[in-house]
Amino acid sequence: MYAIPNWQQATQETVDHLSRLIRAESVNPPGNELPAILAIKEILEQEGLRSSDDFVILESAPQRVNLVARLRGDGSERPLLLSGHVDVVPVERDKWSRDPFGGEVVNGEVWGRGAMDMKGFLSMYLQVFLQVRRMQLPLKRDLILAAIADEEAGFEHGSIFLVRNHRDLIDAEYGLTEGGAFTVPMGKLRIYPIQVAEKGVSWLKMTAKGKPGHGSLPHAENAVFLLARALERIRRVGHLPVHITPTYLAMVSKAARQTKFPLPLLLRGLSLPWVVKLLLRVLRGQPKTLLMALTTNTCTPTVLKAGGKTNVIPAEAFAHLDCRRLPGQSPADLTKEILAVTGEGIELEPIATSPGAAFPTDSPLYRLLEQETHRLDPEGIVIPMMMPGATDACVYREAGITMYGFTPGRVPEGFPLLSLAHGHDERLPISFIESGLPILWEVVRKFCSGA
Ligand SMILES: [Zn+2]
Repeated sequence: MYAIPNWQQATQETVDHLSRLIRAESVNPPGNELPAILAIKEILEQEGLRSSDDFVILESAPQRVNLVARLRGDGSERPLLLSGHVDVVPVERDKWSRDPFGGEVVNGEVWGRGAMDMKGFLSMYLQVFLQVRRMQLPLKRDLILAAIADEEAGFEHGSIFLVRNHRDLIDAEYGLTEGGAFTVPMGKLRIYPIQVAEKGVSWLKMTAKGKPGHGSLPHAENAVFLLARALERIRRVGHLPVHITPTYLAMVSKAARQTKFPLPLLLRGLSLPWVVKLLLRVLRGQPKTLLMALTTNTCTPTVLKAGGKTNVIPAEAFAHLDCRRLPGQSPADLTKEILAVTGEGIELEPIATSPGAAFPTDSPLYRLLEQETHRLDPEGIVIPMMMPGATDACVYREAGITMYGFTPGRVPEGFPLLSLAHGHDERLPISFIESGLPILWEVVRKFCSGA
């Protein structure tokens, strides 16, 4: 048996580190992670870790830096990576009730940009990392802590830079990063989604080519009409074809096992494509959006452009489509689905593509995450979840690392955690940290030391 850390003290330290990280402004764009990385460097040094022996700082561009620290195990198993980004999204200062970079603690909450996404979660990873070192936990696998840049604007200077140029430093069997195991209330239920998959990105340019001419002589082959017709068809059809993925099936069946009658029946119904199709027809608002994100490739027109002069019929009109593919769906599959809706006469070309990712829900680490999340909230419902957006996990997947979104904690009832990420007045309740730290600790302890 190992001694149990003093959680009160560990929580206080985490809060102090978090405040310090919030004060180290690292807004992206433009991306200036240096102050935040230097703050972590100081914390590690105070703890006795030494640069180059225990951690390295890697610069991907001026002011864009990453820090990778390592606690060595006996090497009998491959490492576990804890990865958190230090960059944060911009703020609209006048919409905040407090200084977004003050790191103030008010009424049991730590305030500031990044309090949750992701400086708060990263502070918890850091605390567990320090705790493992202090207690000299014998490890069978290395524990790697990566504090990285550029998650909020394309990954280029952070995870992509590390995977391409410093693969040996972050090479791991498994990794944890943001995106899961905190309370998401759903009616009377408390859901704890653990992120195991994310959708692939396909940004497309859709072009309609027509016949140019003078505005005073209208004709039906106007490119604006052709593009508008294609977009209107996408709107009218409502959604692209339904695909039931293994992640979605695991989510529905695990939820069914943890709920009481009649919910399991309803949930099992959700695994049938025809039920999903029916629901997509009758549902409205957020439930519909969510179900669509989970079961279809999505296609959202965002940018529109045609013509430059009021009296000239343009030869071309184009739109940008922000499309997200389900795991297993290729860019070509998606293009086929869109063309089937719009009909011929338009062209689609890729602007940006990312692969997406899906990780197993029956791995030893996933089972441990599930088990520990149940300890966090014995009445909570723990499910695997696919994220509609993209995180560093899809980049690490390229390096062969199995990633899960795991930043555990109990969210107090009524606290709008999810809407605060990237929102105004971002803050994190200290009680979240207090509830989540022991869970994270147990995961790392059991998985890395086997004790
Ligand atoms: Zn984030």
